[in-house]
Amino acid sequence: MEIRNIAIIAHVDHGKTTLVNQLLKHSERYDAHSQLDDRVMDSNDIERERGITILAKNTAIIYKKYRINILDTPGHADFGGEVERIMHMVDGVLLLVDAYEGVMPQTRFVLKKALEAKLLPIVVVNKIDRKFADIQRTVNEIYDLFIDLGADEHQLDFPVLYASGIQGLANYKPHLDMDIKMEPILDTIIDFIPRPNQDETGHLQFQPALIDYNDYVGRMGIGKIYKGKMTVNDTVSCVRMDGSIIQFRIQKIFQSMGMEKIEVESADAGDIVSIAGLPDIHVGETITEVGYEDALPHLHIDEPTVQIT
Ligand code: GDP
Repeated sequence: MEIRNIAIIAHVDHGKTTLVNQLLKHSERYDAHSQLDDRVMDSNDIERERGITILAKNTAIIYKKYRINILDTPGHADFGGEVERIMHMVDGVLLLVDAYEGVMPQTRFVLKKALEAKLLPIVVVNKIDRKFADIQRTVNEIYDLFIDLGADEHQLDFPVLYASGIQGLANYKPHLDMDIKMEPILDTIIDFIPRPNQDETGHLQFQPALIDYNDYVGRMGIGKIYKGKMTVNDTVSCVRMDGSIIQFRIQKIFQSMGMEKIEVESADAGDIVSIAGLPDIHVGETITEVGYEDALPHLHIDEPTVQIT
């Protein structure tokens, strides 16, 4: 299965949660994994129970034989470098801008980080159903912002889509068509965002960039497999920030599937997964094959922990 890794970025209230929920409706079930479907967390259940909408840190959509990993990005200025770490794992961003409000401070903040990380952006002018939506003005503001932030030639060549997340509609043209759902966004992601580096033959390199927590398995590292393959029960090395090395056994690997996390036997380079097995796993460490302890560049941080119980 081919992979695409993207982050979704926007000013608060510009419609990220609504849009991702609509995109998730287009996710196909990946049958090869259904046997292994041992759920540890089902955000949809949690959501139903609490009656609120939550956007998990990472979700995945299976579409036309692609696994699209979508990482949510905090829009606010954060302290731990979380935005940078997320940008490090992805190959492109979906920038959402409300067609009524236009470019706002957090639009600028997160786009700046994405451009600095040399990522390719796809622009979604959202909420075009709003009564006083001004699509043209919003598009102009977005172009001005890109130029102001020093976007390079490739980045300036961004595709623009027009959407009403709430209605589940998206279009290549600046109007809505009841017959065109969210496919234009998904098609643009698979066509326009580059595939991650998928060096599956090299020696394992995995770096936790976010920490997840769950009562069943404890602390988990969410990160990208930069090289090689990871398999449950493998003994691997963890190169700590101070350079020391500790070995541990990979107890669980989880892939995102919609809003759920499903347990898998193994995962390959390019994918973003959560792993359990090292109770004190930290952001920025490198997990490697034993005997090949080649650390990835350090990531900088303190660690926000997401508690999912
Ligand atoms: P987030 O903060 O970016 O995750 O934004 P949400 O998805 O929570 O949406 C913020 C508000 O905008 C909610 O009240 C949504 O119902 C509303 N909203 C989201 N998408 C649309 C849209 O396409 N059109 C309109 N009119 N409202 C929307």
